[in-house]
Amino acid sequence: MGCIMRYYEKQGLILKRGDHGEDVLELQRDLITLAYDIAEPPDGDYGPQTEGAVRFFQAIAKGHVTGIVETVVASALHAMALAPPATDAALDLPFVIGPHYDSRAEAAIDMIVIHYTGSGTLVGTVRWFQDPASRVSAHYLVGKDGSMVQMVQEAERAWHAGASQWQGRSNCNRFSVGIEIINWGLLEKKDDGFYCAIDNQYTQRYNGQTPVEIAGKYWEPYTDEQYVALSELVRDIRERRGIDLEMIVGHTDIAPDRKIDPGAHFDWARFRQSLLSLLV
Ligand SMILES: [Zn+2]
Repeated sequence: MGCIMRYYEKQGLILKRGDHGEDVLELQRDLITLAYDIAEPPDGDYGPQTEGAVRFFQAIAKGHVTGIVETVVASALHAMALAPPATDAALDLPFVIGPHYDSRAEAAIDMIVIHYTGSGTLVGTVRWFQDPASRVSAHYLVGKDGSMVQMVQEAERAWHAGASQWQGRSNCNRFSVGIEIINWGLLEKKDDGFYCAIDNQYTQRYNGQTPVEIAGKYWEPYTDEQYVALSELVRDIRERRGIDLEMIVGHTDIAPDRKIDPGAHFDWARFRQSLLSLLV
C-alpha cells in the first residue's frame, strides 16, 4: 500500500500525457500493482499506453474520465486498493488477483509456509505470478519495505510449495497458507562482487544490502520491515485460523530435497519472538 498512499497524500498532483519523471514512474508502478497493463518495464513517460491504463482504471473506478491523474484519481486508486475482492487479513492489504490457484478440496487450513522469492522487487514478482507461464502463486507477498499484497484468497489453494510432505501428509498446498518474502536468497561471490541467481545462473549483479555470511555462504539479508510485516500477517492468520506455532514452517522443511528457502539467513528466533510479543 505504501506507494499508493504516497500518491494519495500528494495533494494537487496532476499528471497528463507528455509528462515524465518520478511521479509518472510511481503511477505506472501503482497501475502494475493494481493489475492495469502498461508498457513493461515502467519508463516514467506518460504515453498512450499509460493514458489508456489510467482511462481504463478511471472507467472501472467511476472516477474522472479525462485521462488526467489528479487527487480525485489518486483517492480512487486508494479506494480501489481497499475495495473487494476483500483481503482475508485484518490488515489493510491490496488484493491483486492472479490466475494460479484452484480448490483445496475441503482440506482444513492448519499450516503456514514461509518462502523467499529469489527475486528483487514486489512489483516484478506480482507480474511474474500473474504470467500464465509461471504456474506459481502464493497467498501473500511481503516486499522489502514491508508492504504486502494478497494474490489468492486463503480459501483457495495457491501453488507455492509443489511436491511436499509434512508429518505423513503430502501436497502441503492443500492445507497451507503460502507467504513469499521478496528476497534474492543465496548469492554467489565473484571477484568483482556478488551475483544473484536468475534461472539458477548467477548472472545478475547484486546491488542490495551487505550480504550475510553464514558458513561460507552469502545471502541477501531480510529487512527489519519484512520481519515486522511478516509477524503481523502471521499473527493475523493464526488468530483467524488457530494455527499451532510448530505448523509455521519453511519451504525447505516440507521439500528438503528440492528447496532451501527461506534460507539459513532467515532468523526464526527473531521471527517467533516478534510473533509472541504481538500476542500480549
Ligand atoms: Zn519456496
